[in-house]
Amino acid sequence: MTEVHSISKNTSRVSDYKSRFGPDGLHLFNRETGTNILIDEVMIPTDRWSKAPRQVSIALTNACDLSCTHCYASKQKAILDFDLLTTWLRTLDLNGCMGVGFGGGEPTLYPKFIELCEYATNETGLAVTLTTHGHRLDEAFLNKLSGNVHFVRVSMDGVGSTYEDIRGRSFDELVKKIKLLKETVPFGVNYVVNAATIGDLDEAAQIADNLGASELLLLPEVPVGRGKGIDDNTNRVMQEWVRNYLGDVRLAISETHTDGIPVCEPFEMETGISSYVHIDAMGILKTNSFSQDGVLVNHLKIMDALKTLRDRS
Ligand code: SF4
Repeated sequence: MTEVHSISKNTSRVSDYKSRFGPDGLHLFNRETGTNILIDEVMIPTDRWSKAPRQVSIALTNACDLSCTHCYASKQKAILDFDLLTTWLRTLDLNGCMGVGFGGGEPTLYPKFIELCEYATNETGLAVTLTTHGHRLDEAFLNKLSGNVHFVRVSMDGVGSTYEDIRGRSFDELVKKIKLLKETVPFGVNYVVNAATIGDLDEAAQIADNLGASELLLLPEVPVGRGKGIDDNTNRVMQEWVRNYLGDVRLAISETHTDGIPVCEPFEMETGISSYVHIDAMGILKTNSFSQDGVLVNHLKIMDALKTLRDRS
């Protein structure tokens, strides 16, 4: 048996776990604690493998009130229909998907955002996460969000003036928002790594730790949208930094830049579309958020769109 995450805080019952069947074995996941258990002695027949991807990210809207220097998001006006979204979430859940991540644009600008999180948490067994710039989080919003989301990712590229040059917002204000957030829901920090932000990594990791973050996700910049891409030297420095990292906050890195980084990949066989897909704010299903190609889901049932995407890949 392979434990993916620590189960030291585990006081949960088997009924708290959602199960998923795949080529790597039986996967159990508790969305309240974030505990994953992979029972890899169990051989699951192919016809019983879960049909939905393990994780799906959805850009609810392309709207955003910031204008970051490296922004990847499409600037084309687009927003997803609420009823369509709830249908997709229900179907994905029934087909063994473990979690959905709402993003954008800025997902908190989605008009029925709280209702959507409520629906996903109460009507499905999906783990609900969101990625936000954090500046719209206040007590009233967080009170409504409480209990309706399982994990929040806050973007924090650089600290102090580095952050402010990139995001055009006060770093101190961001820290205040994160302090409010940590009272409501577990959170992690997303960190775009490029030549401007690499020098702040030590301080950022320390601040993330002090604030109580449970994960620091490194996102080496990719050349999409306004992003120029991480240069070779910065990439080397980042690899070295990861190798020497002794901090307490768990490190994670985007799949695009795992070369030269010691990573733990428990799901060795359940890869590609079986592992993850993205739906953009136009309703196009893609293998990842940076891809230019995909399948328009709006006119298809989501499982049919997945099959079309799988056949094309
Ligand atoms: S990077 Fe995120 S927060 Fe910044 S402009 Fe783009 S969508 Fe908005």
